[in-house]
Amino acid sequence: MSNHVMTVGTLAAKPGEKTFGVNEFMVQGQPHRLPMWLVNGTEEGPTLVVTGGVHAAEYSSIAAALDLGRTLDPRTLRGRAIVLPVMNIAGFGVRSIYLCPLDGKNLNRVFPGNADGTASEQIADWIFRNLIKQANYYVDLHGGDLIEALVPFTIIFRSGNDSVDRTSLEMAKVFGIHYLVRSETAGSVYASATREGVPSILAESGGQGIWPPEDVARLSTGLDRLMRHLKMIPGAAPEPVPCTLLDQFLWLRSEQDGFWYPAVAVDDAVRAGQNLGCVTDYEGKVLQTAISPADGKVLFLVTSLAINKGDPFLAVGA
Ligand SMILES: [Zn+2]
Repeated sequence: MSNHVMTVGTLAAKPGEKTFGVNEFMVQGQPHRLPMWLVNGTEEGPTLVVTGGVHAAEYSSIAAALDLGRTLDPRTLRGRAIVLPVMNIAGFGVRSIYLCPLDGKNLNRVFPGNADGTASEQIADWIFRNLIKQANYYVDLHGGDLIEALVPFTIIFRSGNDSVDRTSLEMAKVFGIHYLVRSETAGSVYASATREGVPSILAESGGQGIWPPEDVARLSTGLDRLMRHLKMIPGAAPEPVPCTLLDQFLWLRSEQDGFWYPAVAVDDAVRAGQNLGCVTDYEGKVLQTAISPADGKVLFLVTSLAINKGDPFLAVGA
């Protein structure tokens, strides 16, 4: 029996309790409110932090995190869980793509944050100090943004700390999505958490502003498998599933504003040098051609006709 009262900000849960509430803190002098669950098991065990919606229109990630918060039962939980379903809450209501509307920054590029920085940097700092730092394991759920199609994949970061990196890889395998990608996205939550010594994964399933049950279930099933593996919930250890580890995550970006015409679909196998699509002007003149830098798989693809300078076209996993 645990006697550990868990707290996050001003919220608390005693052993055997589940607390849903709102943490309020100041961002640029204004109150900022983040709803979350604290689930405190009756038995001592690890702390798992699960977040969704760092990209506020990746709805399958938010739906899966909501399901977890709503259903997790503290009476059968070993250890503790913190579930933050919509990290970029300011972006959710306005259906923002990629960015936090408070400062126009991508919240998943500013971690571990800065207490004296811009709005996103202050939000990141609060989440990092109050949630990530008390995690023994961290899962960041993503779901393909409003303008992205993708094949499901899990990302891990190689921090150089062998034991942390080994555990992150094990978590990714247990989660059960076929493609695993090793990558560092500077300022991302999962990479910052891993560098802090918290084994972490980022799981992607969904896209294009919809949340079909199978995309949400892929994330929910992954969480269930991981928690069974960690013996946080009852149930047999999950069956291993075959996976493919990709060591390169190659993003291609637009150098122009214009009209984007992809020549491939997600999950297509591509060859180095292959034409993957082009950007044109109004009259159809090609401004830029996207050329595959390697043999690999198209893991995500921007599906909007509109493309802006600096936007990703797609990523090839190799
Ligand atoms: Zn995302």
